[in-house]
Amino acid sequence: MSQRMQQGQPMIIMGEDAQRVKDRDAQEYNIQAARAVAEAVRSTLGPKGMDKMLVDSMGDVTITNDGVTILKEMDIDNPTAEMIVEVAETQEDEAGDGTTTAVATAGELLKNAQDLLEQDIHPTAIIKGFHLASQEARAQVDDIAENVEPDDTELLKKVAETSMTGKSSELNKDLLADLIVDTVSAVTVEADDGSHVVDLANANIETQTGRSTAESELLNGAVIDKDAVHDDMPTEFDEADVLLLNEPIEIEEADVDTQVNIESPDQLQQFLDQEEKQLKQKVQQIVDSGADVVFCQKGIDDMAQHYLAKEGILAVRRTKKSDIAFLRDVVGGSVVSDLDTLEAADLGRGSVRRDGEDELFYVEGLDDESHGVTLLLRGSTDHVVDEIERGVTDALDVVSTTVSDGRVVAGGGAIEVELARRLRSYAGSVGGREQLAVEAFADAVELVPRVLAENAGLDSIDTLVSLREAHENGDVRAGLNVFSGDVEDTFDAGVVEPAHSKEQALSSATEAANLVLKIDDIIAADELSTSGDGEEEGGAPGGGMGGMGGMGGMGGAM
Ligand code: ADP
Ligand code: MG
Repeated sequence: MSQRMQQGQPMIIMGEDAQRVKDRDAQEYNIQAARAVAEAVRSTLGPKGMDKMLVDSMGDVTITNDGVTILKEMDIDNPTAEMIVEVAETQEDEAGDGTTTAVATAGELLKNAQDLLEQDIHPTAIIKGFHLASQEARAQVDDIAENVEPDDTELLKKVAETSMTGKSSELNKDLLADLIVDTVSAVTVEADDGSHVVDLANANIETQTGRSTAESELLNGAVIDKDAVHDDMPTEFDEADVLLLNEPIEIEEADVDTQVNIESPDQLQQFLDQEEKQLKQKVQQIVDSGADVVFCQKGIDDMAQHYLAKEGILAVRRTKKSDIAFLRDVVGGSVVSDLDTLEAADLGRGSVRRDGEDELFYVEGLDDESHGVTLLLRGSTDHVVDEIERGVTDALDVVSTTVSDGRVVAGGGAIEVELARRLRSYAGSVGGREQLAVEAFADAVELVPRVLAENAGLDSIDTLVSLREAHENGDVRAGLNVFSGDVEDTFDAGVVEPAHSKEQALSSATEAANLVLKIDDIIAADELSTSGDGEEEGGAPGGGMGGMGGMGGMGGAM
């Protein structure tokens, strides 16, 4: 590409700093940038993948194995590379997992496309071929997939465990997988048409540092990480009427700002009495409603705290808005924003317990209609808890996708090798130049088993040969045991993934690759490169133009 750059491009109507790159140069430039991103996350793929330590500009450290987290933290400002980051984000949103797979596949598609471009195959033919292959591959995923019932907790546990492998959460994966499956089943309802709807909004995740991850637990109801406003307040209720309030229990603003001319001590006393009366009235309104417990989103005046304590009411101030919303799901009732309109019907009902050691309130609903569970994750330090939370959040998404979608496939590269095999036989029916693109697509899909082997220190070619052989013999579930290096039925071995995640990875990787391939002209307002553009003959990929745009130094991985 540097060769072409030296010939120079006409720049007629653009500003001094503007730069234009066309045709093959544009494609190569974009492909390099996209591949750089893909390469950066590849080494994290699979149970034997490594972690990355990311240090942001503030010096905060994140240690993770999670593809999308890595890409988000990398602070990429190259527009093409950003398209690849979007692949990860789409994958995360749609499937909750498989981000590394999606991004690495996109990179491999582009790498193979590069070979085809070098053979003078037009991008349009490649794009068409990739599109056809992606469609066929997704149809085949559906054909290969096996059904899973929402109450098959054994299998769902395997799905959760597979999703957590390679992450910190893996150390406690048995316990966490149980908690995850229980959480999902607690918030799953069967719709009228018999389908299963998982509402993860009813599952809250709370984290606590200090204790071991093994002490994580699933609690019915909400966990509120707050103290009572007054030491003399009761903290335990079997059956409490609960007020959720988003109005402060304080003197109203207007009264504080109003200027009062006080001319005598009497008047001052009168004024203070007035304030006290107002606070007393607010507390009285709460007492009259029958509330035993108040979770207030705003502040509570000292004097009001005192009155509430005297009335035997438990009050918590500055409760997070999201906690108030979640509490409403748990105890029912409604969130009150004006004490003047408070009625008994607004109150929810629940039990309240205090965990003095952790300084938490546990609030559980009493009615049948009450829903909402809290997964309380524990870990020794913030870093540990953060990475566990990421792993568990992903696994929750994965299990809930699996429950609502109802289809799973064998992991460890099994699905990919089977897809590649089927795509190769499909390629013949496509013919023409597109056929070559379909074959290139099949090769790209096999990146997953290759990298799984590579990351496990195994010979990737030998592995692929044995896997292909098994699949030729009809072993649809033959995948790689990354620990022993053997080819085995990975489904039986417990490496099970949602079919939906695989379909999503295929479609977003293809879309991104095709988007990049379609570009034949880059017009940039500023210079594209900060290094001496294409000065050095056949500069290393990632250098020259590929080096443009900050990759936080990680792009050098190419
Ligand atoms: P992603 O971000 O794509 O989910 P991961 O690092 O989670 O990346 O790796 C997922 C890949 O690892 C999948 O192909 C999955 O089948 C494979 N995998 C997970 N657990 C195992 C295992 N125990 N043995 C072999 N492969 C596994
Ligand atoms: Mg994963």
